[in-house]
Amino acid sequence: MYHITRIYYIYQLVLLAYQINKQDMASLELEARLDNLLSTAQDETKDIDLFAPIVEREECPICMIPLPIKDNEVVFMPCCGKSICAGCTYKRMETDQKCAFCRQPVTRVKALKKLMKKNVSGAFMMMGGFYKSGEKGLFQSDTKALELFIRAAELGCANAFAVIAKYYFEGRVVEQDESKALEFWEVAAKKDSVGAHEDLALVHKRNGNVGLFIKHLKLLANAGDQLSMDTLMKCYREVELLTKEELAETLRAFQAAKNEMWSEGRDHYNAVCKELGG
Ligand SMILES: [Zn+2]
Ligand SMILES: [Zn+2]
Repeated sequence: MYHITRIYYIYQLVLLAYQINKQDMASLELEARLDNLLSTAQDETKDIDLFAPIVEREECPICMIPLPIKDNEVVFMPCCGKSICAGCTYKRMETDQKCAFCRQPVTRVKALKKLMKKNVSGAFMMMGGFYKSGEKGLFQSDTKALELFIRAAELGCANAFAVIAKYYFEGRVVEQDESKALEFWEVAAKKDSVGAHEDLALVHKRNGNVGLFIKHLKLLANAGDQLSMDTLMKCYREVELLTKEELAETLRAFQAAKNEMWSEGRDHYNAVCKELGG
């Protein structure tokens, strides 16, 4: 009996060692892929100015108005792979759960898998998000989520680079590395990821790089981002971190960009969100 218990114990140890080794191999593979992804993207974006204005966003396929600057006001539809503004989504899906664009019932995971087979980057992003939070009946896995975000980045999704930056910043799955996080964020920002500019602004604020903080905020406000404009106003009023002329110029660009992205539906959606959020 004693021998059997000991053999079983040794067997468990061997199994554990094998699993740890397998995990290490997997993470080594992942890190090699990440390094390759970063150097390719840095090469692609080497001639792009980090503070070049954000190019006009693609249009919502329903209202044909440029998509809102905030990613949380854009809905990716897993049925047809279209990105639709929250105004149109809210209006058309208020009464049923059918897609605002193709009017198919929204069956997420199954539909996403189909889009992933077609290499639609947004589908990898959404699936990655599901694994990250462990929803839609999927097991929670940061590693699996990262693999999907890497694929989305390889397919050219700018926001995927910003999401990967956070993995490095927080030391999740990969080793904590702030300089690598900054490199991923900068690539994402050069590819016009709004979220990357927001994250970079926050990191520079935290590190006391006030000049860079203001530069990212101005770029976002120029593209019509309300929160960045509000923060710049506060910076001007409270600590005079920018001149009156700079503020006036940014305000003009902000208003023009905001008008371009305005629609009644989007206004209504934002009002509902405000109400729900208290
Ligand atoms: Zn729309
Ligand atoms: Zn659809």
